[in-house]
Amino acid sequence: MGTLIKDGKVVSAQATTLADVLIEGEKIARVAPGIGAAGHAVVDAAGMLVLPGGIDVHTHLDMPFGGTVSTDDYEWGTRAAAIGGTTTVIDFALQSMGHPMTEAFRTWRAKAEGKACIDYALHMAVTDLGPDDEWLDEVDAMVAEGITSFKIFMAYPNVLMVNDATIFKLMQRTAKLGALVCVHAENGTVIDVVVQQALATGNTGPLYHALTRPVEAEAEAVHRVVAISEIAGGASVYIVHVSCEESMREVAAARARGLHVTGETCPQYLLLSLEDHMGKPGFEDAKFVFTPPLREKKNQAPLWQALKDNVLQVVSTDHCPFRFADQKTLGLGNFTRIPNGAPGIENRMQLILHHGVNAGRISLERFVELTAEAPARIFGMYPRKGVVAAGSDADIVLWDPSAKYTITAAGQSMNTDYSIFEGFAVKGNARQVLSRGECIVDGGKFVGRVGRGRYLRREVAGQ
Ligand SMILES: [Zn+2]
Repeated sequence: MGTLIKDGKVVSAQATTLADVLIEGEKIARVAPGIGAAGHAVVDAAGMLVLPGGIDVHTHLDMPFGGTVSTDDYEWGTRAAAIGGTTTVIDFALQSMGHPMTEAFRTWRAKAEGKACIDYALHMAVTDLGPDDEWLDEVDAMVAEGITSFKIFMAYPNVLMVNDATIFKLMQRTAKLGALVCVHAENGTVIDVVVQQALATGNTGPLYHALTRPVEAEAEAVHRVVAISEIAGGASVYIVHVSCEESMREVAAARARGLHVTGETCPQYLLLSLEDHMGKPGFEDAKFVFTPPLREKKNQAPLWQALKDNVLQVVSTDHCPFRFADQKTLGLGNFTRIPNGAPGIENRMQLILHHGVNAGRISLERFVELTAEAPARIFGMYPRKGVVAAGSDADIVLWDPSAKYTITAAGQSMNTDYSIFEGFAVKGNARQVLSRGECIVDGGKFVGRVGRGRYLRREVAGQ
């Protein structure tokens, strides 16, 4: 006896078709029209979209930053993700300077253990190769553990930033292994000077977080890291949180030259802007302090177009929530002490479907590609994840396209006291969410077991 999802519209990156989906155990057994209901538990999906569970490849759960820790641990964060229709996350294990990567791997597995509500994988954020590069060999060990993507920061000097030599050595290694390097692209040393100059002239409010991180600093870093990847023998590069037209153009140029460069943007850069959300008096703007910062509104249309044109392949969230009341306030009087980050893991599917598909900017199939299939392919999880097809994990969202929902802090499932999308009204929402065949969300409520999520070993996606 299996579960039969009957009469829904099954959406893939290629097509939308009326079909039934038969689930046996944790896997999808068959996708076809008119599967006989006898002997199966039937879920009526008439009028529903049947989507592959969302994959959010950029989250920071339980992450230490700026003297505090992001408020969503693996339980809070993955539960909120599930409620929003996301069934897989890739979170960042963060290597501490002076400590091996293997230690960070153990630390992050322990953070997730007993708490993850959906399946999760890890990237390794590399901050230190060791005094004699002795930890470079750990890259191979991490790939063997299923960590096939490595993050580097070109920003945050003395905290997370690595220099170009380290990037180059890492990329030589990942190129050989077929692994991926994810890049936070910003020229951190120049930004730091601009920041110090702002503070010295008394510009200490949250707005100056945005004004001290110019778009050129992002575009320059994208250009530089692409060049380094070429020198390193054609390493695969994934640019995280592309926030502006300038850096998007650098990604486009690299791709036009046939390089293995991919990238993502996030809902906040598509839907919020410097003009609309920053520059008000007081400290309220600290809610919108994340990095890269909000950009001028004129960047939004080019970023949507880049998603449509496959210049960018993925929409992730960069979910990194802090409370306004007692965490963001660490930066009262000095914007550099405001913890960088904002909540978003719960709202990605709603926002991109509404403002992308309903608004006519992208097709429904492209939505599925951006939120599930491409993330699975780029990060070595396809076809186990990211598609509703026979043999894949039964990670499925029954999406009600006519449901109306308004995003508010009061109504959200994330462990924060505000929403950057407060008052945003969307049409369409997850009605039921299945993870490996198990219904874990029903009518907006989490009905699964905390700790049921599993660690996913990923493959190298290759070139
Ligand atoms: Zn991030």
